[in-house]
Amino acid sequence: MNIHEYQAKQIFREYGIPTPKGKIAFSVDEAVENAKELGGPIWVVKAQIHAGGRGLGGGVKLAKSLDEVRKLADEMLGMTLVTHQTGPEGKLVQKVYIEDGVDIKDEFYLSVVLDRKLEMPIIMASTEGGMDIESVAEKTPEKIVVVPVDPTIGFQAFHGRSLAFGLGISDKMEQKNIIGFAQKLYKLYMDKDAELIEINPLVRTGDGEFIALDGKMGFDNSALGRQPEILAMRDLSEEDPDEVEAAKYGLSYVALDGEIGCMVNGAGLAMGTMDTINHMGGTPANFLDVGGSANAQTVSKGFEIILKNPKVKAIFVNIFGGIVRCDRIANGIIEATKTTDVNVPVIVRLDGTNAPEAAEILKNANIPNLIVGNDLGDGAKKAVAAAKGEI
Ligand code: ADP
Ligand code: MG
Repeated sequence: MNIHEYQAKQIFREYGIPTPKGKIAFSVDEAVENAKELGGPIWVVKAQIHAGGRGLGGGVKLAKSLDEVRKLADEMLGMTLVTHQTGPEGKLVQKVYIEDGVDIKDEFYLSVVLDRKLEMPIIMASTEGGMDIESVAEKTPEKIVVVPVDPTIGFQAFHGRSLAFGLGISDKMEQKNIIGFAQKLYKLYMDKDAELIEINPLVRTGDGEFIALDGKMGFDNSALGRQPEILAMRDLSEEDPDEVEAAKYGLSYVALDGEIGCMVNGAGLAMGTMDTINHMGGTPANFLDVGGSANAQTVSKGFEIILKNPKVKAIFVNIFGGIVRCDRIANGIIEATKTTDVNVPVIVRLDGTNAPEAAEILKNANIPNLIVGNDLGDGAKKAVAAAKGEI
């Protein structure tokens, strides 16, 4: 789960991490009111969407008067902001953050992220902040400092020193500032079950202070149950509505660009199914894991969600009956076709426990648009052909 910049900065403040003063606004009047309260003389108006690259897309702008704040807030609220992270369809701006303008001397990059290979969090930093860190990593990887922090010992003074020296910070007071900053950030990362905290840019001011000018935070969804104050920050309007709906029924759904809807149990099998469809010359329209408890209700919900996507030309149901029995799934599919208007060919491949019984049930069901796949390859091949209108 991700949160907005303004929410991340609220948490930064709780941890004593320096960040400019700012206030969130849902309307133009509120934006101007906030700017008045902050006092100026320079403000930054920042569109709040769950995506970076806002600066380049016109979602971060400087204002030198209250009139300018009004004008910018008016332009941004309601606009569809397109950045390299939103995809071409962009994201609707529903709130703007009004922030004090900061005197920037240098822009750094600082993040804490889980390194799955090292199996521990790493603090990543660079003097090349403000810009696209991915291209820094690609072209000048030596400019990225990586400090792994073993959670069994936690953040120690030597971690801080590696970071400060790695960034070439030689002034004693600045060293102290950056070390304190990183220490608090690491604590926050651990306390809140974050997966990523990214500050780009982290700025050094003329006074040698370090301030978080941007803030991105992502959290481990599995830990949200013990992070109620983080969960309360969830903004469902930033998430894909079909994915949100699917999650209510315990389904993991991710929409893709292709033509073949997939309904599979288990994430690994779902990935394998998508690969097989590609291999047979087709394109998957989604990832959908119905989980271990596939039944008539989840199957019919699955059909409903898959069919919301107008690009879907065929549905491939690929279920392996381990704990769940294939005959139950077959009955579930038949029932689901009665409650949901499934107007595309459905290719079903069931294997595992009670597969022969399931095949019998499907054969006798007499559903015209239902095609049985004998194995994964056969099912995928038939799904691709059906999507092309060949069968
Ligand atoms: P994004 O990463 O989505 O483009 P940022 O918050 O990083 O958005 O803002 C983009 C740029 O705007 C920053 O790199 C910085 O140069 C400038 N900026 C952002 N906030 C402020 C601020 N409060 N004062 C001065 N400049 C700012
Ligand atoms: Mg940024």
